[in-house]
Amino acid sequence: MKKIIIAIDGYSSTGKSTLAKAIAKEMSFTYIDSGAMYRAVTLYAINNDMIIRGELDKGLLLNKLSEITISFHLNASLDSQVVLNNVVVENKIRGMEVSSWVSIISAIPEVREMLVQQQQFMGLGRGVVMDGRDIGSVVFPDAELKIFMTASPDVRAKRRFDELRRKGEEVSFDAVLKNITERDLRDTQREIAPLIKTPDAILLDNSTMTLHQQFEWLVAKVNHLKA
Ligand code: C5P
Repeated sequence: MKKIIIAIDGYSSTGKSTLAKAIAKEMSFTYIDSGAMYRAVTLYAINNDMIIRGELDKGLLLNKLSEITISFHLNASLDSQVVLNNVVVENKIRGMEVSSWVSIISAIPEVREMLVQQQQFMGLGRGVVMDGRDIGSVVFPDAELKIFMTASPDVRAKRRFDELRRKGEEVSFDAVLKNITERDLRDTQREIAPLIKTPDAILLDNSTMTLHQQFEWLVAKVNHLKA
């Protein structure tokens, strides 16, 4: 199949990256987790004391934006890992602290401008599966296939809760549900590049679907493009 762009957007913890990785592997395309890029900028802000007593020093972050470099690196199992200023930070960006700030930092126009430019550059050769919030609407409005994922908040919170517990993070189900709900609200209501389902995106509600069922569903959509 010719190299295309598959844009997968949707609400928090809908399993976008799991599905995106699976289809990228199937098609030998590059998988790019755009959320990891926003999370890496957030980690930078936390590590450089830009969040003090619950307040983000936005001016300081903007002053240092040009010092932030983000890239991806494949580990020995060929899993994509996000790299912040030459350090692999994949394991540091998924916890609750980053999760509680990321949708505030991702609403800053200058942060988005910087990351969207990089994402568009990564997609120049096509053959890319990218997941996020604005991939089909802003980053690649010309993507050949656009998917919009949703699932009930309880199902999503349970999935994220199980994932965090597996990684050993002490967190309550209610805290995870609250974080997901708050992020959804911020992501859909922000002024710049809000999460929306574009009219040409295909809706996938995976509340009651297994990963295998979602994968088969997506493969059928890809095959439909070829027909
Ligand atoms: O996909 P993930 O849940 O890791 O994304 C974390 C956060 O990054 C989202 O809640 C959203 O605030 C932000 N994000 C974004 N645009 C993207 C990807 C993620 O604003 N394309």
